[in-house]
Amino acid sequence: MIEEKSEPKPTQDWLNTIVLFSTPLLAIIFVPYHLLTYGAFTGFEWACFAFFMFATGTGITGGYHRLWSHKAYDASAIVRLWYAYWGACATQNSILKWSSDHRRHHRYVDDKIQDPYSAKKGFWFSHMGWILKKAYKGPADLSNVKDLQKDKIIMWQAKHYLALVLFSNVAVPIGLGWGYNMITGSNGSIYGVLILAGLLRFVLNHHFTFFINSACHVFGSQPYSNKDTSRDNFLLALVTYGEGYHNYHHTFQADYRNGICWYHFDPTKWVTKALSWFGLTSNLKTIPDSQIEKQKIMHGINLGKENLYERLNIPTGNEIYQKIENACSDFSQTMNEWLEAHNKFARFCRKTHSDAEKAPYQERIEALQLSIEKQKQQLYEFFQASNIKALKMS
Ligand SMILES: [Zn+2]
Ligand SMILES: [Zn+2]
Repeated sequence: MIEEKSEPKPTQDWLNTIVLFSTPLLAIIFVPYHLLTYGAFTGFEWACFAFFMFATGTGITGGYHRLWSHKAYDASAIVRLWYAYWGACATQNSILKWSSDHRRHHRYVDDKIQDPYSAKKGFWFSHMGWILKKAYKGPADLSNVKDLQKDKIIMWQAKHYLALVLFSNVAVPIGLGWGYNMITGSNGSIYGVLILAGLLRFVLNHHFTFFINSACHVFGSQPYSNKDTSRDNFLLALVTYGEGYHNYHHTFQADYRNGICWYHFDPTKWVTKALSWFGLTSNLKTIPDSQIEKQKIMHGINLGKENLYERLNIPTGNEIYQKIENACSDFSQTMNEWLEAHNKFARFCRKTHSDAEKAPYQERIEALQLSIEKQKQQLYEFFQASNIKALKMS
């Protein structure tokens, strides 16, 4: 029997509500108050702010998201400890809970009941409305993160989560300000660091992450798929350490990169790659270019087809519909053969460096490429047809 899920009763989570509303309010009051009382923030205070921003930001994107939720790469204990600490400082829940919610988001994306932050329930809900409600009664369902529960660092973080939050957000900024005062003989840095690296960073880090669930499902392009609401957005990548390429991410969640081109702004990818040079990260998973290319082309073809059916009002199953469907299916078949040829060629290249031996594989790929171009041309001619008659003639 299939278990029917009904919408959980949205009881208010008062702790989350108070924290998420009071911290922006306090930042709005204390940042200008500090400026008016003590003058401009010092270079040291800004440096602490920048460091805390980057450390908590990548703690979520590199640690919580790509390492733990998606297992897109492996990391040494020191990196996992670092991300566990700074992830706790970001105060977005423990690794276990965050990853569990996120895996559910990918599995049931846009589902109004099972996706914890479904974009279909509106911008506000997916941004932070969902955090203000106790979605699930009783203990959190962590059945989808059993693999993570084997990691001692993750369990240690879950056990000491509250202590880590308080220590990293309050004690460390105060300690840094105090240390700076002691060394330089100046005073005032304790408040400065606490307000900038503690409070303001806390608020900005929260909302930059929340944008991934809200704005990245509303604004931007869909170059890879329109099966869900995820979008690629360069501007959002700037404030989310590369997570703005969200349509790619939802299409290929196993990839450790979100921005796949070298010029895509994806600091999380750069950090992960750089750490691999020192053996601190390994097994960085990437989707082959040919597979990405195929997905992009097939997505374009599907869009063209859907648009044509709608524009010329072509009913499902009629003669023209069948003709287009057959042409698309042939094209998909050629694309599959092309992808398979690419995969075979890549496997073969690992075994030999002889150009003569590689030549037949390359010829096969080139021949398939020619056939792809021809079929694509024909499909685009269909898609541009101005009426049914023109489609029958073509
Ligand atoms: Zn994800
Ligand atoms: Zn998403």
